[in-house]
Amino acid sequence: MFCPNCGNEVADHAVVCVKCGGALKSQTAAAFDPAAKSKMAFILLGIFLGGLGIHNFYAGYTGKGVAQLLISVLTCGFGSIISWIWAIVEVCTIQVDATGKPFTN
Ligand SMILES: [Zn+2]
Repeated sequence: MFCPNCGNEVADHAVVCVKCGGALKSQTAAAFDPAAKSKMAFILLGIFLGGLGIHNFYAGYTGKGVAQLLISVLTCGFGSIISWIWAIVEVCTIQVDATGKPFTN
């Protein structure tokens, strides 16, 4: 990456520019973390596919996703409203994925 102050090329993990001494934005790494899950995707999946637990599979909460999927499948779809309400509560309250990593915007 490049220093935002002087444009000097610095190591990706550097916290201070070696040329000008300026502090480099530490949140840059988090913002471009390819492993971070999108909050928007989590919400949209919860709204449209929450009855099947898809948002939980996306965020890594496989156990909860399986539970919501089974509730819907085993009731021939009638229980999906229960899974869906559960999903809506989750997308409104959960801020991190299954590894504890915060969602990105
Ligand atoms: Zn610099």
